[in-house]
Amino acid sequence: LVANDPILYRAHVAPDRQALFEIATGRQLSYAELDMRIARCGGFLKDMLGARREGARIAMLARNSIDSIVLAFACQRVGAVYVPLNWRLSAAELRPILADCAPALLVHDEEFSAVVASLADADPEMAVISTADGPAGLAARIEASASADPVSDDADRACVLLYTSGTTGQPKGVVITGRNAFYAAVNFSFVGEIGPASVALCDLPFFHTIGLIAVARTTLMLGGTLVISDRFTPARTLAALADRERAVTHYFAVPQIALALRNDPAYSAAALSGLHALFVGGAPLTQALIESYLDDGVALVNGYGMSEAGTVLHVPIDRRAVQDNPGSVGLPAPLLDIRIVGEGGRDVGGGEIGELWLRGPAVTPGYWNKPAETAAAFTDGWYRTGDLGRREANGFYRIVDRLKDMYISGGENVYPAEVEAVLASHPDILDVAVVGIPDIRWGECGVAYVVLRPGAATTGEEIAGHCVAKLAAFKRPARIFFVETIPRTASGKVQKHVLRQLHSDETL
Ligand code: ATP
Ligand code: MG
Repeated sequence: LVANDPILYRAHVAPDRQALFEIATGRQLSYAELDMRIARCGGFLKDMLGARREGARIAMLARNSIDSIVLAFACQRVGAVYVPLNWRLSAAELRPILADCAPALLVHDEEFSAVVASLADADPEMAVISTADGPAGLAARIEASASADPVSDDADRACVLLYTSGTTGQPKGVVITGRNAFYAAVNFSFVGEIGPASVALCDLPFFHTIGLIAVARTTLMLGGTLVISDRFTPARTLAALADRERAVTHYFAVPQIALALRNDPAYSAAALSGLHALFVGGAPLTQALIESYLDDGVALVNGYGMSEAGTVLHVPIDRRAVQDNPGSVGLPAPLLDIRIVGEGGRDVGGGEIGELWLRGPAVTPGYWNKPAETAAAFTDGWYRTGDLGRREANGFYRIVDRLKDMYISGGENVYPAEVEAVLASHPDILDVAVVGIPDIRWGECGVAYVVLRPGAATTGEEIAGHCVAKLAAFKRPARIFFVETIPRTASGKVQKHVLRQLHSDETL
């Protein structure tokens, strides 16, 4: 039953241990209280949906809160599917997602009620309730309901539908079964060294795999304490990390958050000194950032994963490992088979670059409502990640780039991430993205989009000169454009397809 209901188990084993703490309100719940609230929330879903609840999608457009966690586990307990929505998206972006998952119920924070009002016509069947206080709100409904019994144990039932970031196109709904969620949490607990004594701070949103599965589910499944923050600000996070009474042991950032923390005036290495691990992942990380943390004695441990499989690779929590393996995403999680597949479908080794293919109990059975995309993403039971990587002699992996972003110039493969890393090492460059576009002479060539640091006056020629010293001619960008910002997804990933689109009717 643990795969289907880890909280039920914890409530037996350690009922009085603190499960959740909410920074915004100071509310907290023990495992026994959390279990009770989940049971009642399950009762509410049962009363509202009756027999329709099994397999029903319950969408939530809300910031991180205790009740996000309660609703997520209540869905699993009664056989419904929790669908956390990305509140950074506009109504126009959410509309196709709602049409895709067709939720029976949408729960939202008041903060998003204007967006919800403009979406209500999308599906007249969809019930809508708010998380606000008051008799019609979620909390009151939970408190007024009787406990529901768990549905029969079926670890292959979907419990979460997680939409991908939409970095390469439209977001896809990834089906997560109870088995997937359980094993993803086992994988992360192993590489992340999480256990009953862990106190994990989560300000990454629960609508992505890192927040919901790696941080929240893992911590709760293992009986630790989850400290929930409903928004990231450097000051708030630094204060939470420095609070010795709270004693946070694990914190997970994405690269842009790790950078914002490091650059904040309130930053001090001492604030982080109580941490057992400072995780980072989800997007490429600059070496400069890793080194600036290392200078303070802080090991930023990089991990690679995705909505479809959870945590896949992770650098061990060890300063030496971080220091000795620059640019690495570490070692495989225990319950994943990983292949590196080169051209023609052959397995490559010895440091050669290929696409990472995955198999294991944490890997999704496929995309919701998307048989063609599912078929395209799986070969003989292996999930093809679309990411290129290689394995070093010591067993550590590197992510090279996304397959979709690689381009071929004069017959040579170019990985934009490598070019970006060289450009990013220029002291005047704040942000950069490189894409390949059609070129009459070379087939394709690279175009760099560069954001300069405030006050910097570097020219295109100077940047080209910086590349000459560090990159082979075929890798150097043919053109450099200075821009104000780089288009990114809500989670901070560069949208290369938007940049390529700028050149859709151009051949250099
Ligand atoms: P979509 O699938 O909709 O295009 P997405 O792939 O960005 O969006 P996610 O599942 O949120 O959606 O992100 C997983 C991807 O993020 C990985 O496939 C990989 O490309 C990238 N990624 C994750 N971790 C790292 C990392 N540590 N270093 C580099 N890239 C990473
Ligand atoms: Mg993806």
